[in-house]
Amino acid sequence: MSSTPARNVTILGATGSIGVSTLDVIARHPDRFSVTALAANRQWEALLEQIARFRPRYAALLAVDAARELEAAIRREGLPTRVLAGPEGLREIATLPEADTIVAAIVGGAGLAPTLAAARAGKRILLANKETLVLAGGVFMAAVRDGGATLLPIDSEHNAIFQCLPAVRDKPGSGGVRRILLTASGGPFRATPASELSRVTPEQACAHPRWRMGRKISVDSATMMNKGLEMIEAHWLFGVERAQIEVLIHPESIVHSLVEYVDGSVLAQLGNPDMRTPIAQALAWPERVEAGVPPLELAQIGALHFATPDAERFPCLALACAALEAGGSAPATLSAANEVAVAAFLERSIGFLDIAGVCSEALARLPAHPVNTLDDALDADRAGRALASELLVRHVISA
Ligand code: NAD
Ligand code: MG
Repeated sequence: MSSTPARNVTILGATGSIGVSTLDVIARHPDRFSVTALAANRQWEALLEQIARFRPRYAALLAVDAARELEAAIRREGLPTRVLAGPEGLREIATLPEADTIVAAIVGGAGLAPTLAAARAGKRILLANKETLVLAGGVFMAAVRDGGATLLPIDSEHNAIFQCLPAVRDKPGSGGVRRILLTASGGPFRATPASELSRVTPEQACAHPRWRMGRKISVDSATMMNKGLEMIEAHWLFGVERAQIEVLIHPESIVHSLVEYVDGSVLAQLGNPDMRTPIAQALAWPERVEAGVPPLELAQIGALHFATPDAERFPCLALACAALEAGGSAPATLSAANEVAVAAFLERSIGFLDIAGVCSEALARLPAHPVNTLDDALDADRAGRALASELLVRHVISA
């Protein structure tokens, strides 16, 4: 038995890839972690299975009709769980006094409002939902500070950087850090000729060579928009400017990111590509727990490779840099337009290269304005989505 008091964990996005990996780690340590609440979009049957196994006090679904189905099933099975519904239900789940730890693993801009509520309520937040920082980084970081929340990144690169940074940094940029080197696998199309990219399918885009993830982030990895969003995420998490962040292609996905210091030291975090490692690190921090991940056998891997990204084949990377440099609402515009474009690509209404086209057009047409409040961020998100949808309907971007 550990001496640390058990943590009571709420998972937003419990049925997704990160949610399932989190429950896998939690199940290995019943003495350390208990599940207070589980929330998802509308997959009530998958949530019901998790509820039967982990017996949380609360559950929530965004979709009200699905929440009713869940409620009826919970009564039939005699489970002790109270069901909440809708955006209000999600916000309530994110701020329950019974939970100290919130895993923010909803996909997309939908994660912003509940994650921000958790920050204001002073929770320990394990952040997977990078879109929260892209849409409203300034507002969210201020809420973390003012609410007395603790922010622990579980995006693998940011978790790696967190582990490589000095333990004490009283102000951003201090501690002798010169640069952050963000590694990227390069996704499934790293070596695909540019001439073939216009014809790739959603199935090919979602077949990531190293990581098994939800469909949206898989497409983001294929366009490398994911790395662009992660640059913006790193800016807010670690207080580094665009010029201090470098993206490095590393196809093996063993080195999860690196921190370079002014004395020439470069610290890296290595591990097998399995999200249970960063999740376990953040769940147990500052301690360590077993994560179910096989040991890293470097002698079997033999060689690790690094290269500079191909800016021409992956224009989303430059778009994200431009949005980061423009600041204000530009990253929110980019993220919103990207979400709409990725959904259209997954539905086969546009081609792969059109994703960058829609994002570029949205950034060009919507001038950046300051984002000081949640409403500013939500307005920018709505405007980005509306414009992207319009671009798709009017076939300004043709498939
Ligand atoms: P996923 O699609 O597998 O799961 C998403 C979860 O969010 C599901 O439980 C779904 O029910 C829920 N959800 C979706 N829309 C919702 C809404 N409107 N309201 C409430 N719940 C909603 O996604 P994922 O791959 O687990 O990714 C989740 C987040 O973590 C993303 O922001 C992603 O960028 C980030 N992330 C994922 C990975 C990974 O390995 N999967 C790695 C790093 C970061
Ligand atoms: Mg990542």
